[in-house]
Amino acid sequence: MMFRIAVAGNPNSGKTCLFNQMTGSNQRVGNYPGVTVEFIKGYADFSEEKVEIIDLPGTYSLTAYSQEEIVARDFIVNERPDVIVNVVDASNLERNLYLTTQLLELHVPIIIALNMVDVAEKKGHTIDADKLSAILGIPVIPTVASRGKGLDKLEAACLQIIKNKTLPKAVTYSHELQHVLPELTEAVCRYPELCGNFPPRWAAVKLLEDDEVLLAKMKELESASVLEKELQAAKALIHAHSNEDSATAVVEARYGFASGAAKEVTHMSEVSKRMLTDHIDRIVCNRILGPVILCAVVYILFEFVFGCAEGNWIPTSFTFDSFSSPVGLLETFFEWLSSLVNTNIATPWLQSLLSDGIIGSVGSVMGFVPLIFFMFLFIAILEDSGYIARVAFIMDRVLRVFGLQGKSILAMIVSGGLGAGGCAVPGVMATRTLREEKDRLVTILVAPFMNCGAKMPVYAMLIAAFFAKSRGLMMFALWLISWALALCCAFFLRKFVVKGEQTPFVMELPVYHVPTIKGILMDTWHRTYMFIKKAATIILAISVIMWALMYYPRLDTAPMTKGIAAAAENLRQKTAATPYAVLFAGDELDKTIEEADNPGSIQSQEQLHKQRKAFVKQLELYKADENSKVPEAVVAFERFTKQKDVVVNNFAEQQLLHSFAGRLGKILTPLSEFAGFSWRENIALIGGFAAKEVVLGTMGTAYALGRDTVDKPEPLSKIIQHDPSWNKLRAFVFLIFIMAYAPCIVTLAAIKKETGKWRWALFSTAYSTTLAFILATIIYQIGLLFY
Ligand code: GDP
Ligand code: MG
Repeated sequence: MMFRIAVAGNPNSGKTCLFNQMTGSNQRVGNYPGVTVEFIKGYADFSEEKVEIIDLPGTYSLTAYSQEEIVARDFIVNERPDVIVNVVDASNLERNLYLTTQLLELHVPIIIALNMVDVAEKKGHTIDADKLSAILGIPVIPTVASRGKGLDKLEAACLQIIKNKTLPKAVTYSHELQHVLPELTEAVCRYPELCGNFPPRWAAVKLLEDDEVLLAKMKELESASVLEKELQAAKALIHAHSNEDSATAVVEARYGFASGAAKEVTHMSEVSKRMLTDHIDRIVCNRILGPVILCAVVYILFEFVFGCAEGNWIPTSFTFDSFSSPVGLLETFFEWLSSLVNTNIATPWLQSLLSDGIIGSVGSVMGFVPLIFFMFLFIAILEDSGYIARVAFIMDRVLRVFGLQGKSILAMIVSGGLGAGGCAVPGVMATRTLREEKDRLVTILVAPFMNCGAKMPVYAMLIAAFFAKSRGLMMFALWLISWALALCCAFFLRKFVVKGEQTPFVMELPVYHVPTIKGILMDTWHRTYMFIKKAATIILAISVIMWALMYYPRLDTAPMTKGIAAAAENLRQKTAATPYAVLFAGDELDKTIEEADNPGSIQSQEQLHKQRKAFVKQLELYKADENSKVPEAVVAFERFTKQKDVVVNNFAEQQLLHSFAGRLGKILTPLSEFAGFSWRENIALIGGFAAKEVVLGTMGTAYALGRDTVDKPEPLSKIIQHDPSWNKLRAFVFLIFIMAYAPCIVTLAAIKKETGKWRWALFSTAYSTTLAFILATIIYQIGLLFY
C-alpha cells in the first residue's frame, strides 16, 4: 500500500514550494468532490518507499467558516493520511502555531516542517526546534523549502512516524476547559455516529466551539437531547468560571497555547530588538508625529503626576469610605505639628521660630514630596525605556534653528525640560558632552529657565489656589512657556553675546527596552531623597535666616494689647445689663473664652467656664439659624471677635513691615509694583535667590506671620486663595517671574565651575532677572487692562 502524506499550513508558509521540491514534476491536479477548491497531488520516493503527497489548501484555522478550511479538515478527518506535514513559517511562529494547535487536536500523526528559518534568522529570531519538538511531542525539522534544505531529514522523519504510528501529545487548554472536557468527551464516545468519524476529544472541543458541522451532526442523532443537555451544562460551567462563552474560551485557550509555545522557543537577538526599535522610531521620530507624541507624553506626565499626588486614593479609614491624597496627608501632618507647637510652647519667639520658621517653610516644601516623587518616577520610566534620547533627537531639528544643538537638549531635560522634574545643577554639568564651547555656553545660560523641581512647589501651590480646575493644562502651558523663553534667549544670546558657527549633531539612539521596576524605583528614590535632603539642610538653614529677618526687630506689643483691651471694654459695657455680663467680667477675656472649650485649666473658675462654653455654643446656634432674633450680647461678642482679629492682624502686619526683610521688601515695592508684587512677595523672591524652594517657604512664613495665630493653621494655597489682594493675574505673573529670574546659588556655583569665570555666573543672574522683571511687568500691565 502507498503511504499518503498531506501538507498543511498557513497560506504563504511555503507549502507548495516544499511540495514541488519533494515531488518534482510528478504532479496531478485533482478536485475534491462537490467543491470548487482544487488540490494537487504528487508522488515521490522516500528511500525506496513510494508515497503520495497532497498539497492541502492554505488556511489559518480549521473552523467551518471557509471552503478551504472545510476541505482541509475533511480531508484529514475522512481520508486519514498516514502523516501530516505541517509547514510552519518560522518567521511568524505564533500565528502559524495557532493552526498547529488545531491540527494537534485532530490526533493524527504530525510532523512540523519549520520552514523559512532563513527569514527568521534575518529577523534576528532563533528558534529552538528541539525544544518545540519536546513541547508539542512531535518531530520538528528546520527547513528552507525554497532551497531544498532539510528535506532529506523531513523525509526520514516521515517514514519513522508512519512506521511507529506515533501520535502527538494532547493539547492542554485553560483549566476551565480541561475541567469539562473529559466528561464531554466521554459523552461523545457514547455516540458511534460521532466518535466513529471523528476523534472524540476533537468532536467535544468542536461542539464547545459551536462548530456548525458538528452541531448539525449532533442534531441528526436519535437521542440528541441527552448530549445537548450535557453540552449546555459544560458551557454553563465554563461561563461561570471565565465569564466567557465557550467558543471564545476555546479560541483563547488555543491562542494562549500557541503564544506560550512561541515565546518559549524563540530567542530574540539584539538585531531583532534593533529592528523593533527601528519600527518604533519610524513613528516616534517622525517629523510630524514625533512632536505630537512628545506633547502628548508631556501632557500625560502632568495628568499622571497630579492625579497620583493630589488625587484622593489613600484610604484613611479601615472601612474604605474616606480617602485622602498623599499631598493632603502630608499637609494634615504638618498642620497637626504646627498646632502642637502652638499649644505647647509658650515662649513667643520659639513658638514662631518652630511654627512659622521651620514647620511653615520646610513643611511647605516637604508637602510636595509626593508630587516630586511621581514626577521623577515617570521621568525615570521614560529615561530607562530609551525615549529621552528620542526626545533629544526630535527636538534637535527644531532647536538647531535657535542656535542650540542636539546634545544641549539633554542638559535642558536634566534641568527640567520634560516638565518640572529636573535641576539646573546637573543640567549645567551635563553640557560637558558638548564639544563646541559656544554651544555649551549658550546652553548653560538658558538651561536654568527650565522648570526645575524646586520651582514645582511654588507652581503647584499657586495652581492649587487659582487654577485648580485646569491643573494639567496650566502645567503644560508653563512647560511650553519655559521652552519658548529658553529658545528665544538662546536665539538672541547666539546673535549678540556668544556669536559663532554651529557644529553638526550626532546622537546615539539606544535600543528600546522595558525598564526594570527595581532600577526605576532606585532612581526615583535617589532623586526624591536628594530633594528631601536639600529641604532638610540648605532650605532649612535659609529658612531660619529668613525667619529671623522677618521676625526681628520686634515692635512693642503694648498697642496691640491696648487695642484688644479696648474692644473687651466695649463688650463689657454692651453686655453689662444682660444676664451674660458675668461671662465677660474677668481679664484676658479672649483667652478664657478660648479655654471655655478646655475647662479644668483654671480650676477655681470652673463654673464660669461652663457658662462661657454654653454661651459660645449658643452663639453658634444663633449663627446657624438665619431667622432667629439675635440677642444683643451675641451681637456684641461677635463684634468683639472681629475687632480683636483686626487688631491682631494689623499688628502682625506692622511687625512684618518693621522687620529687616519687611523693610527691604518695602524699599523694593515702588519698583516691584509694576509687576504687581507686594512687599510680601518681594521678601519671598529675595529668599529665592538662594534657592527657589525658599520662595514658597518664605511666603508660607510671611503669610502665617501676618495672621491671627490662634486660628486653625491653613495651607498657604488656601490663605492666598482667600486673600483679596490675590487673583489669577497676579498668580500668573508671579509664576512667570519665578520661572525666569536668577538661577539659585548652587546653580551659579556650577556655572562658575563649568565656565571657569564668575563673570558668566553674574551675567546669568543679571540678564535673567532683568528679563523676568520686564516680562512680568508687561504681562501684568497688559493684564490689568482686561482684568
Ligand atoms: P504556500 O502558500 O504555502 O503554498 O507558499 P509557497 O510555497 O507558494 O511560498 C510562498 C513564497 O515563499 C514563495 O515565494 C517561496 O519561494 C517562498 N519560500 C518558501 N519557502 C521558503 C524558505 O524556506 N525561505 C525563503 N526565504 N523563502 C521561501
Ligand atoms: Mg500554495
